Amino acid sequence: MKIRVEKQENKKVVLNEDELGFGKIFTDKMLEMDYDPDKGWHDARIVEYHPLSLNPDCMVFHYAQEIFEGLKAYRCDDKSINLFRIDLNGKRFYNSAVRMAIPPIEVEDFIDCVKAYVKQAEDWIPYRFGNSLYLRPFIIATDNGLGVHASKTYKFVIIASPSSSYFASGLNPVDIYVEEKDIRSAPGLTGFAKCGGNYAISIKAGEEAKKEGYAQVLWLDGIEHKYVEEVGSMNIFFMIDHELYTAACTGTVLPGITRQSILDICEEKGIKVHVGKLSISDIMKAGEEGRLNEVFGCGTAAVISPVGKLTYEANSVIINQHRTGPFSDELFRTLTSIQWGKMEDPYGWITKI
Ligand SMILES: *Cc1c(COP(=O)(O)O)cnc(C)c1O
Repeated sequence: MKIRVEKQENKKVVLNEDELGFGKIFTDKMLEMDYDPDKGWHDARIVEYHPLSLNPDCMVFHYAQEIFEGLKAYRCDDKSINLFRIDLNGKRFYNSAVRMAIPPIEVEDFIDCVKAYVKQAEDWIPYRFGNSLYLRPFIIATDNGLGVHASKTYKFVIIASPSSSYFASGLNPVDIYVEEKDIRSAPGLTGFAKCGGNYAISIKAGEEAKKEGYAQVLWLDGIEHKYVEEVGSMNIFFMIDHELYTAACTGTVLPGITRQSILDICEEKGIKVHVGKLSISDIMKAGEEGRLNEVFGCGTAAVISPVGKLTYEANSVIINQHRTGPFSDELFRTLTSIQWGKMEDPYGWITKI
């Protein structure tokens, strides 16, 4: 695929790696590609970071026809650059597009765009272990007019943010509130798609939990409000009686690449994982009886986020004395070592740029 690179004045990039934050500062480049029914996806180009000019009646503002991805470019000690399981981001982006009636971008083209972008933005990739360049590819519907139908035109964009690690001061267990009323997903809806709409409907519960001192909410299934599904922007694993559990990705749960990697690591090591329904009442009971060994969220941004406390219907359980458990810690080390190239990648997950 052809990607045009617009000549840009070569500015020296100076990153203050102590103060990056997450998703706050952006590189001076963006990739754009347009879609129309005649040309299909066309004119991929890397240009200077700039505001998008859209009419107020642009479809994405009203009907939220939009999808996104989240992945990182990692800097290794030898200065080379790693991407992690980028084929899975490409496949998920494709599946999200299909669900939202957006013309999908071929996986190979998505990969080409990400690689070309990272090459151009190379100077923006931090050097410190844990810090990374967070990439945000997305597609928006760009038709004008308020009629409800699939847009005929779209824009694909990649922007990127040099970001700090979530774990600069070590893995700190977070407190999680189990949401009882609101749901984020149900069979037939968009739980498996990475779309802004899934976040729009979950912000309220998240904000209420934050007010009470919780980091995020844990979502239950949308039908019975009984079975655990995932956390705000992470999948979640439970260890009860030293056995692992996580929800199945059968449409209502976002198929996280970190989750899949944990399942693959467990399979390779011969660790059994129960993938399926697990009720919140069984989890709380295990917690009260001292059988809930570890709980951790997982996602690209935080990698592994241990859970120290779970609150459900006015009952709370503390997990592993609110400390990071040995299994969470080991997984964290394995994943980050592969991602930042500190360990040989036995799985073929790394793409070098
Ligand atoms: C992106 C995301 C995840 C985590 O997926 P990764 O590929 O591991 O980063 C989990 N849940 C939701 C709702 C997400 O949007």
